[in-house]
Amino acid sequence: MTSTQARRMRRPVLQAAIDAGAKCVQADPDLFFRADGEPASTWQAQRAEAIRFCHGCPVRSACEELALRDGDGNDRIDDLVRGGRSGSELATLRVLQAQRLKAAITADEASDQEWSELATLAVELGSEARRMPTRSGGMPHQAELLSQQNERIAELAAKLAVVRTARRARTGWEVAA
Ligand code: SF4
Repeated sequence: MTSTQARRMRRPVLQAAIDAGAKCVQADPDLFFRADGEPASTWQAQRAEAIRFCHGCPVRSACEELALRDGDGNDRIDDLVRGGRSGSELATLRVLQAQRLKAAITADEASDQEWSELATLAVELGSEARRMPTRSGGMPHQAELLSQQNERIAELAAKLAVVRTARRARTGWEVAA
């Protein structure tokens, strides 16, 4: 399954989990929404009660994720609770998760660059090792060419080791690399 397919599958999975386990099917739906014109003092008490209610819900984390995907919550309008979060908490989380997602994408891109560098170095090393130095020019010249080839192989192998060790350390292999 590709990552795009996995992302597309995620929403129905979240929704199915919520449909099967939402605790709020037994609650008054009005508990989670501020009524038109409701004063802040009564809404704050109601909001706290709704948040407490959600925290006992078995699918709270799925509900929170779906709320974030749905774009619920606004840091300027305090009028709902979903997934155990107030509207402003959802808005804040959305910003935090956007930064995390961006960081993850950047890390993936860095990883791909390393991978492509590794592949290029491995190909260069293989072709250098298979290359026969030219036999023209007599034995002294041939020895010099062989020595240059060995230096080039050692240089490529050292570069390969640096990139591979850095990659493995970053992905948790550390000294085992
Ligand atoms: S977390 Fe709250 S709003 Fe979400 S399904 Fe559970 S009870 Fe309902």
